[in-house]
Amino acid sequence: MGHRFRIKVYDNKPQSLCYGCKACEQICPRGAISMPADREGFWYPEINTYLCVDCGLCQKSCPTQDENLMKWLHPMPSTVDAAWNRCLEERLKSTSGGLFFLIAESWIKQGGIVFGADFDSELRVFHHGVGRVEELKNLRGSKYVQSDVRDSFAEAEKMLMRGEKVMYSGTPCQIAGLKSFLGTDYDNLITVDLVCHGVPSPLFFAEYLQWCGDKFGSPVKKFLFRDKKRSGWRAYVSIILKNGLHKSFKVGEDLYSHHFHVGNISRRSCYSCQYSRGERVGDITLSDFWNSEKYYRELKKERKYGYNLVMCNTHKGRNLYEAIKSGVEFIECDTKVAVSGDVRLRHPEEAPDLREEIFELLNDREQGFDNHKVRQKQSFIRRLVPDFVINVVREIQAIR
Ligand SMILES: Cc1cc2nc3c(=O)[nH]c(=O)nc-3n(C[C@H](O)[C@H](O)[C@H](O)COP(=O)(O)OP(=O)(O)OC[C@H]3O[C@@H](n4cnc5c(N)ncnc54)[C@H](O)[C@@H]3O)c2cc1C
Repeated sequence: MGHRFRIKVYDNKPQSLCYGCKACEQICPRGAISMPADREGFWYPEINTYLCVDCGLCQKSCPTQDENLMKWLHPMPSTVDAAWNRCLEERLKSTSGGLFFLIAESWIKQGGIVFGADFDSELRVFHHGVGRVEELKNLRGSKYVQSDVRDSFAEAEKMLMRGEKVMYSGTPCQIAGLKSFLGTDYDNLITVDLVCHGVPSPLFFAEYLQWCGDKFGSPVKKFLFRDKKRSGWRAYVSIILKNGLHKSFKVGEDLYSHHFHVGNISRRSCYSCQYSRGERVGDITLSDFWNSEKYYRELKKERKYGYNLVMCNTHKGRNLYEAIKSGVEFIECDTKVAVSGDVRLRHPEEAPDLREEIFELLNDREQGFDNHKVRQKQSFIRRLVPDFVINVVREIQAIR
């Protein structure tokens, strides 16, 4: 058996220049590349030099290559929409305004396949394609952990070559990885990218699930990263245990969502991500459209159930969005508002000081998560005010 070596095609490039999109692994005609996880739980390529024939395809398919970056980015449109699904039930089940579901449903109804992130039976997040609306429900909702694309680029390529309609949704680096893997655009392909502030470690998430299972006395069956059902105004992390019990925490107050939100557990490449910018790689960009209610006051009341930023970056994206508009409420907004409101549309966020320490603790099985401290951001007085009072205040603010 051949030895494995740290990938040589990238020579001495640092880990921060690999997004873990697995384009190189999937394109290698000799099966010489594997993507084992490092001690932080992120996948990085390794080449079996006995199999490698130096064809250079892996390098060509890498979205960190400058020529790929320039090739796939679209200029920003002058206007964007703040939009939400007219169906409240759908909106409540989605992370933001439920636009992804509408767009993807319409694609499936046109005979298309939709690729997106789902949980497997061990609660690992991975990408796969679905062709039925019933299955689409599993792709709905943000899973705040790096999704394993497995062999979905290669699968999508086969479908595209057969002339099937393919939608691929994911983080911008995954969309850039797919496009660099395909090497060309297809008329029958549409891509949806998310504004993303970083993908957390799959190992951290797996260990956290294990820890929750031990702490609550039953394995975790389902994990909702942003559960709106408990209260419209604030989101909860909800954990459903195999024994039927439910545990809920306000977002930011449980350990996992806290580390995610402050960026402590992101992949190294997220802190220098070239796709954290206003020019997007997908045909359509979706996000939470943070801070827009400051400029468009009528949006204040819509924050209760969430709404999307919808940015149509290409004609293809615009046409698909127009086709679903009857199911959407929207307000047209200036693109500058979107860019000024979300730092991830301008540049990546810096790595927090605590990051290295957190991953050290992750590898220290003895200490585990019990030693992690969630820094309480709220003031002492704010913590004394019950949530329902805050909700009432927000309701009043929204109608003023
Ligand atoms: C890791 C991550 C970070 C994000 N960061 C921000 C942010 O900083 N600011 C912001 O405004 N919005 C962010 N978003 C996007 C936001 O959470 C919503 O996903 C987006 O607004 C779409 O919402 P929706 O209601 O239309 O659809 P939903 O149904 O909520 O979203 C589902 C879509 O998200 C995809 N998806 C879910 N999990 C993953 C994953 N792990 N990897 C790749 N794709 C995934 C699904 O495939 C599907 O396309 C982030 C999303 C993810 C996954």
